[in-house]
Amino acid sequence: DLKGRSAVITGSTSGIGKAFAEGLASQGVNIMLNGFGDAGEIEEFRAGLSEAHNVDVFYNAADMTKPDEIKGLIDETAERFGAVDILINNAGIQKVSPIDEFPDDKWDAIIAINLTSSFHTIKHALPHMKKAGFGRIVNLASAHGLVASPFKSAYVAAKHGIMGLTKTVALEVAENGITCNAICPGYVATPLVEGQIADTAKARGMTEEQVKKEVILAAQPTKEFITYENLCGILFYLCSKAGSGATGTHFAIEGGWTAK
Ligand code: NAD
Repeated sequence: DLKGRSAVITGSTSGIGKAFAEGLASQGVNIMLNGFGDAGEIEEFRAGLSEAHNVDVFYNAADMTKPDEIKGLIDETAERFGAVDILINNAGIQKVSPIDEFPDDKWDAIIAINLTSSFHTIKHALPHMKKAGFGRIVNLASAHGLVASPFKSAYVAAKHGIMGLTKTVALEVAENGITCNAICPGYVATPLVEGQIADTAKARGMTEEQVKKEVILAAQPTKEFITYENLCGILFYLCSKAGSGATGTHFAIEGGWTAK
């Protein structure tokens, strides 16, 4: 029952956000793309997605560190589609460093992109959702929204923060037909993570297979990466009419990581 809905997905030029754009478009959802990247490649993706699934797809380059541009992204979504049915807060960055050496500007950027941007998107999307009496807000948190790992202080703080924002928003709009939930993935083999595998294999003199199982996936009992398909399954559920009863909660798709 997603056909004809509209979705805005922050950070949808790569990885999980891009897979979510493809997944929702395949269900007949019109899409507003966002994120950085090569202009030609983004345009090719936008046009291809629209043609493959016969849906409207637009792109807005808003920088998630800039509140005015974030407002522009939501405004454009509402103008193009006449509604902001689905908001997916997905844009995110990472920095791994001991806290006593953690660069100040990286801390600020991670909090801005991984947490504060969602405050701004939600703030501007809610009036449209309230007017329509329907809304689905999905925040990409992480297993690191539930548990910590060393050397990821800003990321873990931002992801725990988004869990609190998720619950608060859910309570505020619980009677408006709007849900707000978090998805907490374990490791997903996005371009970002794939790059780390090759580098780590070289640095440690291991095969890429060894790096995946013994280094990257050490925390994840299944020792398998979470797939885009795993994540799209829960996304479709959350965005559907059947998802109306689930709000203010999280869905941990992390191969058993936080069960330990
Ligand atoms: P990715 O690097 O492949 O994609 C990140 C996207 O965010 C890109 O489109 C990028 O252009 C965009 N982006 C970055 N800074 C931006 C800014 N200032 N303004 C606008 N867009 C910006 O990463 P991914 O692995 O697909 O991660 C997506 C989300 O999922 C993130 O929130 C991440 O924390 C979360 N997550 C990822 C994993 C994983 O293993 N890959 C696990 C758990 C959670």
